[in-house]
Amino acid sequence: MIRRLLPASVLLAASVLLALLARPHSRGVQVRQAGSSYLQALAEDSLQLAHAMLSDSLQRSISPRLLGEIAPEKPLPGARLSGREGGRYLVGFRTAGGTTRTLRVAVDGEGPVIHGDSRLEGLMGRAGDMCVRYARGTVAPAVLQGASPEDFSCPVTGVAYGFSSDGGRLVCPAGHLGGGVVLSTDACSARRDSLAVLAGSYLAVHDSLPAGFGAMYQGLELSPWERVGYTCPADATVHYLLRPDSTVYCPFHDRATPIPVAP
Ligand SMILES: [Zn+2]
Ligand SMILES: [Zn+2]
Repeated sequence: MIRRLLPASVLLAASVLLALLARPHSRGVQVRQAGSSYLQALAEDSLQLAHAMLSDSLQRSISPRLLGEIAPEKPLPGARLSGREGGRYLVGFRTAGGTTRTLRVAVDGEGPVIHGDSRLEGLMGRAGDMCVRYARGTVAPAVLQGASPEDFSCPVTGVAYGFSSDGGRLVCPAGHLGGGVVLSTDACSARRDSLAVLAGSYLAVHDSLPAGFGAMYQGLELSPWERVGYTCPADATVHYLLRPDSTVYCPFHDRATPIPVAP
């Protein structure tokens, strides 16, 4: 009898121990683990998974695809609780570059939710520009040639573009385009406008205009989808020129667009 009881009591003790171990972790551990799994999902390119861990409002303001831009190369070790902000916990991670990446995590609901990520905030700061460049450079010219705005989506949120209520402007539902990009019937002028804006951002960080648009794009470090074509829509063999008088010139139409100067 005792022989049969012993293993049973050992089993009981083991199961009690297991139950203790399986108890919900302390808040701090939970928060650090949530932060680590979010960064791990990013590092493993599981962008949908990382996106699903974000708060609803962050999910609406950024697409899973764009999260790839702030993915660490490998999971970041050494999560550290660095403070609290209301019901949210600040968790700091040391990055490969030696800086700190801070996440804001809440654990009060069903599961942990990421309410903030310092790298994401930096990306969001540039987000409006990405949408403007893409809308002016790619979407507006395509829409002018008969494409539907709904066939294109904002590079930031992944949500489709649309027309303004009067139909004359291209709008982004996230408001990145303000009142909208005017859909000029002149595709060449619209494209020159976009290139002039890009040349303006180049001049904001360089002293003079580059030799051509290829060099300009290198100097701007643009993603491929942000690059506006630099041939005239009316004749793809005609290349625009960056002229010393600070204009983008179309030899086909013999028209020039001034490059806006940064204030
Ligand atoms: Zn947008
Ligand atoms: Zn032209």
